[in-house]
Amino acid sequence: MIIGVPREVKSDEYRVAMLPVGAEELVSRGHRVIVEAGAGLGSGLPDHDYLRAGAEMAASGRDVFEQADLIVKVKEPQPEEYGLIRTGQVLFTYFHFAASLKLTDAMLNSGASCLAYETLRDEHGRLPLLTPMSEVAGRMSIQEGAKYLEKPQMGRGILLGGIPGVAPAHITVLGGGIVGANAARIAAGFQADVAILDVNLDRLRYLDDVMPANVNTLYSDRHNILDQLERADLVIGSVLIPGAKAPRLVRAEDLSRMKAGSVIVDVAVDQGGCFETTRPTTHGDPTFVVDEVVHYCVANMPGAVGRTSTYGLCNATISWIARLAEMGIDSAIKDSLPLRRALNVHAGKVTNAAVAAAFDLEF
Ligand code: NAD
Repeated sequence: MIIGVPREVKSDEYRVAMLPVGAEELVSRGHRVIVEAGAGLGSGLPDHDYLRAGAEMAASGRDVFEQADLIVKVKEPQPEEYGLIRTGQVLFTYFHFAASLKLTDAMLNSGASCLAYETLRDEHGRLPLLTPMSEVAGRMSIQEGAKYLEKPQMGRGILLGGIPGVAPAHITVLGGGIVGANAARIAAGFQADVAILDVNLDRLRYLDDVMPANVNTLYSDRHNILDQLERADLVIGSVLIPGAKAPRLVRAEDLSRMKAGSVIVDVAVDQGGCFETTRPTTHGDPTFVVDEVVHYCVANMPGAVGRTSTYGLCNATISWIARLAEMGIDSAIKDSLPLRRALNVHAGKVTNAAVAAAFDLEF
């Protein structure tokens, strides 16, 4: 099979969908890999690394789309790419179809098969192609929070770990899933005083078992949340109710309980955010201040650390790409429940119930 890797064209996107080692693996199994020139540069991966791995280079995205049977990407196709996608082609990338009727219509009209990273669910019910990005965002949330707590960044002027004789920062993590656990672990490493809140008691038991001694678990109810807001220097928003908007755990009027110069990092912004005052921001202009509380609400946090994110994503996708290349779409779908779950659009039809429901389309 011919596998194509176009350069990402969405603004501020530095990731690439395949590492040179992935290309080498596919080529060694008898496939051809065509990479658009410069596709890896944003992640520090020069063309000659791909060439050395046995990949071929194409001068443009158009060339990649024309030749490849299977296109692997990072972000959903952009409008300028819609016309390049053809009937029978297979696309494997993050789509987030329910967020865009325009994209859904374009893919239905293309006749291509669209497999979405975000709906590939394994036999344990996990989402293995979303997890690495939650790990990145969780770890990064503490790094960003530390930065914006600095006085020149409008923060309180607090060092996360304190020093001997001076108390460390108090960090509250709302939601103890992948993002929250990664945030708590990094915060603990900074020697901050950490509280992690969740409504899932089994999850709290697990976190209580594995977290260092400076991480305490708390049940996530309104009283505990208000109490934490008064204590916190940094609050991380990391709740998720799958398929739903994030619950608004912190109301606008609650901010008045927080200390001036404290910081909110709302990682859950992509699902609407868990603070009423959240609105999406960008890496170019990441923060705003409400009631003297600094808000950081960047919707694509992993983009800023493109190299780490590329490696994390590609480590997770390569075995699925290999399986698709080996079996072809029809057999792969028949054989693999996770890939079947990843299939959102096939031959002009929506094949995912949530996407169909979002736009009242036939399923
Ligand atoms: P997850 O499912 O692993 O964890 C979510 C946790 O929230 C669960 O443990 C759940 O029990 C808990 N929860 C649900 N309701 C709660 C409540 N009322 N109070 C406290 N906890 C509650 O999800 P995740 O992978 O950690 O992702 C969290 C959010 O971060 C998602 O919205 C995800 O899309 C987002 N995210 C954003 C970025 C970004 O760049 N901004 C990157 C990655 C992930």
